[in-house]
Amino acid sequence: QQRVVVVGTGMAGVQTAVQLREQGWPGSVRLLGAEPHPPYDRPPLSKAVLLGRGEEAEVPLFDIDFAALGIELELGRTATGLRPGERLLVTDAGPVHYDRLVLATGAEPRTLPGSEGVPGVHVLRTLDDARRLRPVLAARGRVVVVGAGWIGAEFATVAREWGCEVTVVEAAAAPLPGALPAEVSAPMRAWYAEAGATLRTGAAVAAVERGGVLLADGTRLPADAVLVGIGARPATGWLAGSGVELGPDGSVLADARLRSSAPDCYAVGDCASFPSARYGERLLIHHWDNALQGPRTVAANLLAEGHADGEPESVGYDPVPYFWSEQFGRFVQYVGHHSPGDELVWRGSPQDPAWSVCWLRGERPTALLAVGRPRDLAQGRKLIQQGTAVDRTLLGDAAVALKKA
Ligand code: FAD
Repeated sequence: QQRVVVVGTGMAGVQTAVQLREQGWPGSVRLLGAEPHPPYDRPPLSKAVLLGRGEEAEVPLFDIDFAALGIELELGRTATGLRPGERLLVTDAGPVHYDRLVLATGAEPRTLPGSEGVPGVHVLRTLDDARRLRPVLAARGRVVVVGAGWIGAEFATVAREWGCEVTVVEAAAAPLPGALPAEVSAPMRAWYAEAGATLRTGAAVAAVERGGVLLADGTRLPADAVLVGIGARPATGWLAGSGVELGPDGSVLADARLRSSAPDCYAVGDCASFPSARYGERLLIHHWDNALQGPRTVAANLLAEGHADGEPESVGYDPVPYFWSEQFGRFVQYVGHHSPGDELVWRGSPQDPAWSVCWLRGERPTALLAVGRPRDLAQGRKLIQQGTAVDRTLLGDAAVALKKA
């Protein structure tokens, strides 16, 4: 009987195990992860969990009966090394032998030098992080957020809802610098102001200290709590020296079928990058949908490998990426992947309550950002997926349905 071991109990690891069963994997499935909690979903951490509202307020558990699916779940077990030649995973609780291995260790927050372990300085990645932050918010003190990225914006939203005094410092000239061109994100500055949060762009942080943040220009921003939200890095440090090839960004360099460079070893979710033929570049995606879709491919390929006759066939992974964010009372969605040379076409004005913007390469949309226009998102996704040519004039008319453009 073939043994699959999956490392990491986040969305990607859990979905891999579930997909293996759904697709009929006959062997054993062992799912192990470092966190002590039963597997849970991360997006609610910066939303319902911090707000303490709704069904997901306490623990946003995945609704999965692992035992019934024949998935052996081992919590609180950390992988510390890998010896692919021996098909051996080294963990803090002893070695684990496998026939096939799936790396799904996700990502961990980037920190600022010297900020780790400083009292009152937080990151937001895990349930434990969110639980530490909730009383901080409930105390309604002064909060400084470092980084106006997705997490920073969502945290600032929640902190304002609690009634905290919120300052967000961002080194770049506009919010979401890693994700959007300033032309698109500049109008989002107003969202911060509207919510009563102060956004300081072009503000480099010199140090995060107990009791506040020191900016490079000498300004001291006092704070009862600091949230460092400056992005995440694949949690792959433990693979150093194992022979599994890692990229400069720390990601496991998977191939188009999500196989790592080690034999019988796949990688999926936030820890892995893969070559996209669709976009002509390697993608490292830190979003939920990728951690949901990638595992289908991994499970299909694990099953295909076992069949000498080539049936079923192995499959490639080349998705149109998608993610959403809930910030400042708005539902923000993005689909596709744009490049600096793509042309921008606005649908509506960013001063409107709802608008979207589309990126075009030639006649074909490559990406779409929708603010409060989920129908644009759904229709845009189809256009992007199918590579449909559009009429620029109709596209730019927010009154015309995207599918008619
Ligand atoms: P993870 O969820 O990081 O899971 C990896 C697991 O592996 C972790 O439990 C970790 O402890 C474990 N692990 C790590 N190293 C080891 C080791 N050596 N041994 C054993 N176990 C290990 N995306 C969206 O699209 N929309 C959103 O609104 C959104 N909101 C988010 C809000 C927050 C607060 C966060 C943190 C993320 C959010 N995301 C959102 C991103 C999304 O949650 C991630 O892309 C997704 O969780 C990735 O899943 P994963 O399984 O690859 O990694």
